[in-house]
Formats: sequence, C-alpha cells, structure tokens
Amino acid sequence: MDIDYIFEDVVVKPSNAPKFILNGEEIDIWSEEFLPYHSKSIVEYVREALLEYEKRGEDPFPEIVGKAVEKEMVKNALMSGSNILFRGRKGYGKTTFSKAIAKLLPEKLLAIKGCKIHDDPTHPTCFACKRKVLEEDVVELTWVPRKWIRIPGDPMMTTRQLIGGISIQKIREGYDLDHPEVFTPGRVLKAHRGIAYFDELGAIPSALQTLLHELLEEKQITTPEGDIVPMKIDTIFIASTNPANYKGVADIKEPLMDRVEEIPIGPPETLEEEIEIGLRNMSLREGAILPSWHLRILARIVRLARNKNECRIASRIELEPSCRATIKLFDHLRASATRKGHKCAMLIDYGRNYEIVKLALRSRIELDYEEDEMSKDDVIVKLTEEAINKTCAEIYSLIPRDSFGKLMEDLSDLCSEPISVEDDIDFRRYENIYKILTLFAKSPEELNSAFEILLEAIKRCTGLIDKVDFGRYVYAGYDWEA
Ligand SMILES: [Zn+2]
Repeated sequence: MDIDYIFEDVVVKPSNAPKFILNGEEIDIWSEEFLPYHSKSIVEYVREALLEYEKRGEDPFPEIVGKAVEKEMVKNALMSGSNILFRGRKGYGKTTFSKAIAKLLPEKLLAIKGCKIHDDPTHPTCFACKRKVLEEDVVELTWVPRKWIRIPGDPMMTTRQLIGGISIQKIREGYDLDHPEVFTPGRVLKAHRGIAYFDELGAIPSALQTLLHELLEEKQITTPEGDIVPMKIDTIFIASTNPANYKGVADIKEPLMDRVEEIPIGPPETLEEEIEIGLRNMSLREGAILPSWHLRILARIVRLARNKNECRIASRIELEPSCRATIKLFDHLRASATRKGHKCAMLIDYGRNYEIVKLALRSRIELDYEEDEMSKDDVIVKLTEEAINKTCAEIYSLIPRDSFGKLMEDLSDLCSEPISVEDDIDFRRYENIYKILTLFAKSPEELNSAFEILLEAIKRCTGLIDKVDFGRYVYAGYDWEA
C-alpha cells in the first residue's frame, strides 16, 4: 500500500478537484456562495472579523464587562496570529473571554463529511481525507458549526486523550485509514478549524506540553515509535492558568511559554463593573427587585475581601473571592427576599446574622489560619458590616443639609414608637421622608427597602435612630423600655 501522500501537503484546486456534493447536490465550492466557508485559516478569519469591527468602531467582545486594556491586548495578539495565555484567578472571566474570541469565527464552515476533525475540502489534514480528495471522484461535504473546544488541564491526561492515536505501523500492516486503531483524534485535533481552549495549561503533564509545542510549532508530532507524522492542524490556541505559586498548579514549560502571549486577567476594576458582571450572570432571573444600595453592599463585601490595603480584616484572607461570589450573593439575596414575599430586597433578607452572605462566601474564601477568636464566619460578618457602613454613608450623604431637620421631624412623628420596615406605610403622608426616599428609590416597590436603608444610615451615621429589634427601628428620643 502506498502511504506516501500521508506525508504530503495535499492542496485541492479547481483543476484537480473531485465532484463536491452537499446535501445530495453537486456544488461549486469556489462560487461566491461557498467561498467564505473554506480555504482560509482560523487566524485569517479572526483577523478579517477584527478589522471589520475596527472599521465600524465596535467592540468585538461586548460580553466582557470593562477590561479595556486587556481587550486591546487580545485584539493585537490575534491580529498578529499569536496564541494567548490568560493568567489570573478563577472566576475573573478567562473562559468567557476565550468564548468571545471564538465568536469572531464564521458561524459555520464547510467540511469533508465523515471526517473526525472536520477537514477543509481544499486542504485536508487527516490521512483518510487526503486519500478521499486524491483518489475518489465524488466527495461529500457537510456544514460544521463554529468550534470552541475546552481541554481541561488534567495531570492524569494521556497522549491519546490530548493528541490522539496515530499508528503508522497499522497503516503499513494494511489497515484502512479510517480504522479507529489507525487514527483516533484527541482533544487538540478536535479543535482543528476552531478555538482550542486549554483550561489550566500548567496542569498538563510536562511531557505532553512538549508534544503540544511540537504540534503548534512544527505542525507535526512524533509517535512513541519515533515516526514523525505531519499534523497541520489549524487552530488558535487560548490557554488559561492561575497565578504562579498558587497551590496545586504546575508551571508551564519554557518552550511553550515562548509560543504564547501572556495577558493578565484580574478582578473587575470598579464597583460598577463588579455589579454589572454579577447582574449579567445571575441564575435567578426573576423575583424580588435588587435595589442599587443592596447591589452596592453585596459587591462591596466581595471587593473588601480582596482589598488588603483598604480593609484590615482582608489581610486574613488568603484565597480571595472571585466574581462568582458576587453572582451568588445577588442570587441568594433575591432568593431570600422572594421567599419572604418581599417585592424588593431588604437588609432583613440577609438574615439575623447575615446567613445568606455566609452561604455565598464560606466556600469561596480561605483564611491564612482559623482561630477561635476570629473564625471565617466572623470575618464575613466584619466584611458585611464594613460594606453596610460604606453604603450607608453614601445614602446619608444624599440627604441635603437643609432638609435634615425637617426629615428628622417627620421621622420623630412616624417612628415615635418602634416601627417595622415591613409595615404598610403611606410614605406620601410624610412629605419630607418621601422626598428623600425618592432621591434613590426608583419605583414605589422600592420604598420600604429605601426607608429601611435610610433608617439604618441615620442610625449608623448619627445615632438619632435606634434599632430595637431585627427590622424594627425607633426615633432615638423614644424611651421604648418604659
Ligand atoms: Zn479528515
């Protein structure tokens, strides 16, 4: 059996092409209708798409919140035809970014039907397709949707799983090229004509990293028997890794590092971006309103936990919470408020001892050490208190100075006896309270929650309001023990 062409670069042109059949009909793949879906490399498709976005002045990655500098670096690296390594902690959007890059590819491509790696009809890579286009008169084609293949960084990964199995020996023995024992594509080959996303590249065994390097750079691999097999796979290689020294993560080998552009991906830069990411990714899409002040409190808890400079208690936190903590906090507050029948989330929905905050954070932060005086729960309570303080200070600063006296007059009237924030209160009867509440409440449903945070803000900032019980406040002049 002649196997020479296995090692050849096979290129199909109109002059040497077989008949191409798509859905039972012969097609001219070089016609205007089909030309955009073959013959170009993945890098070329991405480059063209990026230039189109640049021309229109549009952001090619609208699903990524903020990260303007990182987006610029990604665009430049892709234009240069480079592979990318995202370095950053889990939960800061590395996967989302790689998926956004895949969206720059055409929605579908033309491929040789039955090919395990969806070969291009004009430039096949696998042995079976090379033979098909050279030896057969008719070759069937099919559409394949755009590909984003995640390859998890697994320390136990085998060559077979990663690259696949190729046996030159079996071909020499006369096995058919389609035979599974001759060629079984691994994860990387499945990413041919798509995006290969290596989640935790550093966790892949170093011997495999060497193979990967050979595949990316030389477009060939060496089998365990020593045969060199051409594997001209066409992909953009996007990888992610955790910051160095993070426990359990091996390093990426130098030759591989030399073939990628490293782009750091950190936490959201602003509170507003943190909130936007939280809102976009919540799983509880309906239910109680989450008013701006509670979004700020919850996002702040997470940001304080990351900020060792601003927040003393954060210095105890070794593993900082990612945006997933923010997302889950939003989900849990909405869940709690909705379960209690509140139209709008309130402070009392956090639980008497901020149980919903603990629910979202316990598994997402690690302390440097645990001790009796300051447990993880204690740290979470302190972070929550601090976030409430900061947000209450913002609410308090919204009260115009010349309105404060009148506001307190109304409050001394309405709260002369302990009042529950869940009560049905006709705020319109208290003009000065209503005026302040509508400064930040966006709808009538938010009024009770706004009233609660206003009372909490005055309590924390002036002491003129007392909290008598969970969710119950009173004007401080009232002697409620009598
Ligand atoms: Zn093929």
